[in-house]
Amino acid sequence: MRITLLQDDITRQDADAIVNAANSSLLGGGGVDGAIHRRGGPAILADCRMLRASRYGRGLPTGQAVATTAGELRARWVIHTVGPVFSASQDRSELLASCYRESLRVADELGAASVAFPAISTGIYGWPMGDAARIAVGAVRATPTRVTDVRFVLFSQDAYAAFEDAVAGTAGGP
Ligand code: ADP
Repeated sequence: MRITLLQDDITRQDADAIVNAANSSLLGGGGVDGAIHRRGGPAILADCRMLRASRYGRGLPTGQAVATTAGELRARWVIHTVGPVFSASQDRSELLASCYRESLRVADELGAASVAFPAISTGIYGWPMGDAARIAVGAVRATPTRVTDVRFVLFSQDAYAAFEDAVAGTAGGP
């Protein structure tokens, strides 16, 4: 597996699948989620509504992942995953790692060879970027998968730098 870092808008990626940092309602939010639904058009939300009406009546649990169409995006699929809200008093890193692991499992089910990830939980959900980057890179590297091309698509220079450190293994403490 090759891991690539990009400073870009994830909605412009032409990977087979792009991962959405969704919330458990699957019915829209801000950040990456808002951008994906805006650019991908109403077909994505229609699929999400069907998921809420069937398998995920109570919403998608934190740490799990599910795929929908990518609508008008260049990708074929959007894989929605729900990151944990950061907590200073409780270690939720296993749930954050699970988002990456489960997204790759869904990608394998779909037959996706390339997957683009945002920095899950580092926006509205408040996870410190350096720590989130280490968990993300560690989880992806530790997951057996047929995905050969993993891209972390980072919005800011700071996020990019944090992921560079995580890939190089040079990151400091939290
Ligand atoms: P969460 O609720 O999981 O924290 P957010 O969408 O609020 O998710 O943010 C996750 C990360 O994605 C943040 O670092 C944010 O800056 C970044 N981000 C927001 N929009 C985009 C985008 N269009 N492409 C790539 N990254 C984005």
